[in-house]
Amino acid sequence: MIGELAPYAARESASPGRRYPEPAPAYRSEYQRDRDRIIHSTAFRRLVYKTQVFVNHEGDLYRTRLTHSIEVSQVARSVATALHLNEALTEAISLAHDLGHTPFGHAGQDTLNACMRDYGGFEHNHQSLRVVDELETRYADFPGLNLMFETREGILKHCSARNARDLGDVGERFLKREQPGLEAQLANIADAIAYNNHDVDDGYRAGLISVEQLREQPLFERQFLVVRERYPELEDRRLIYEIIRRMIGTVVNDLIENTRANLETIKPGSIDDVRKAGRVLVEMSDEVFEQHRSLKRFLHKHLYSHEKKLEMTARVQTVVSDLFELFMQDTGRMPQQFADAASTQDEQDRARVVADYIAGMTDRYAIAEHERVTA
Ligand code: MG
Repeated sequence: MIGELAPYAARESASPGRRYPEPAPAYRSEYQRDRDRIIHSTAFRRLVYKTQVFVNHEGDLYRTRLTHSIEVSQVARSVATALHLNEALTEAISLAHDLGHTPFGHAGQDTLNACMRDYGGFEHNHQSLRVVDELETRYADFPGLNLMFETREGILKHCSARNARDLGDVGERFLKREQPGLEAQLANIADAIAYNNHDVDDGYRAGLISVEQLREQPLFERQFLVVRERYPELEDRRLIYEIIRRMIGTVVNDLIENTRANLETIKPGSIDDVRKAGRVLVEMSDEVFEQHRSLKRFLHKHLYSHEKKLEMTARVQTVVSDLFELFMQDTGRMPQQFADAASTQDEQDRARVVADYIAGMTDRYAIAEHERVTA
């Protein structure tokens, strides 16, 4: 596999490695080991019961954060192979990118962030890193999953300057305004490609958007005309699937070609050249990116801020903020492990433990906990 890697791909031989040194794996690469550790983590299994856009119990066919993460990984791996990047690293970052998400999607995250306002705030990217660095306790020799530097670098997609300063090596790039490696850049954009497309599917299924509305979107319309002409008899559901499949293809091919052109211009000779390039190199062409953004705005308007979602948001705010307040008042009502960690005089540390506990909850667990503690 190493022989196929481009010079600008991540290589374990050039990596700062793990926070706690370990012997090399016998039959896997270091990044494959990271991916495997992520798959075996508790936080990964919980993604199946966490909201992506639609709340988990609203229907069995909607994406959850788990299926979303797998779709991100699928898109990112295809591109990684085409560009001769490190596929195992790309997969590891993609599968881990949402591990720090709270229950109830962005409504949950915003509420928890508001609760944590006086205690350093709550950022889900930062939380994903906390999960793999500290909160998973599965290994005898170290806390967390002890992942490779490049995997951690990729998971920490955004970070405030304040958090960056506390994070050491992996936070440095936010202070120096450098980019992460290409595998991390790729996982980031694959995230946006995956949700833009699967949310068209889920939004249509939920009856929140129609084919007529979608036809105002250039990415959709272009494929609509092709598919309609070739398959005039196709029923709507199958038409939508065929269009989405082609939309993903269009965007992914454009991403590969445009990134290749960027790499030919900049000619990075190593992952460090990528980091210091001063700009993101894994990107779509301006034209396709504009269409992609237009679809994103459309989905925002019709899905993410739809009335039904807003109703949900109000309920979510109550659940999350009640839980936070009650556990801050009485940390003994949390499970032993969290209660012990929270038995400190430092209010800020206590709040962080409460936030860790709430952030780890699945949607239905949060609702059940809310019923238990408010009963
Ligand atoms: Mg995501």
